Amino acid sequence: MKYKRILLKLSGEALMGDRQYGIDPKRLAEYADEIKQITDRGVQVAVVIGGGNIFRGVAGASKGMDRVQADHMGMLATVINGLALQSALEDAEIPTRLQSAVKINEVAEPFIRRRAMRHLEKGRVVIFGGGTGNPYFTTDSAAVLRAIEINADVILKGTRVDGIYTSDPEKNADATKFDFISFDDVLRKGLKVMDTTAFTLSQENELPIVVFDMNKTGNLLKVVSGESIGTQVNL
Ligand code: UDP
Repeated sequence: MKYKRILLKLSGEALMGDRQYGIDPKRLAEYADEIKQITDRGVQVAVVIGGGNIFRGVAGASKGMDRVQADHMGMLATVINGLALQSALEDAEIPTRLQSAVKINEVAEPFIRRRAMRHLEKGRVVIFGGGTGNPYFTTDSAAVLRAIEINADVILKGTRVDGIYTSDPEKNADATKFDFISFDDVLRKGLKVMDTTAFTLSQENELPIVVFDMNKTGNLLKVVSGESIGTQVNL
């Protein structure tokens, strides 16, 4: 395997499957199967999950809600998704721990870096819920932060497009995909990979990012095995 320890970032929206809202159990089970393929091969897996399928702080604030209050709701949404994913992983017989950045002790362990790393060494999947625990951040920032903290080899951003394109492939038929791109070129060309805070944190800490289509069976294993799919962002 090319990577020994990965951080997988899944958006909340990905969990909706074909639905307009909430969580699709079928999609969750598919993701659990994908993750099992790599844990079975000894890869250590941490997951950061978004909350956009349930609540986004910016959306709440745009309707007049206090932004910090709205972001707290968004953070709790990521804990809900984390619980759902934990349940699906355990159904697939993958030992899993959920750690939350906001204290919610009856429901999830608090985030403790050393404990998280111990879980990973023991072959448990660790899901990080609650984002960074701070308002005005995104789960992309949480993903990069946790990846650096646990010394992950790479951050794998599972999306519904198969990489980074010259422009939005869902809007522009002429868009072409990059196999590799540098952090500088992403910024220079104004391409959207993650929000700027998350992206520059990754760049400054020399943490490579791979953007790939998580909804295609076998893709996660391919990326982790070192097959060139998706787009790799390197220094
Ligand atoms: N959030 C936050 N701080 C964080 C991470 C997330 O306040 O560190 C809130 C924020 O309101 C955000 C919501 O949680 O809109 C859901 O996260 P995100 O939008 O990143 O989810 P995704 O787009 O990946 O589904």
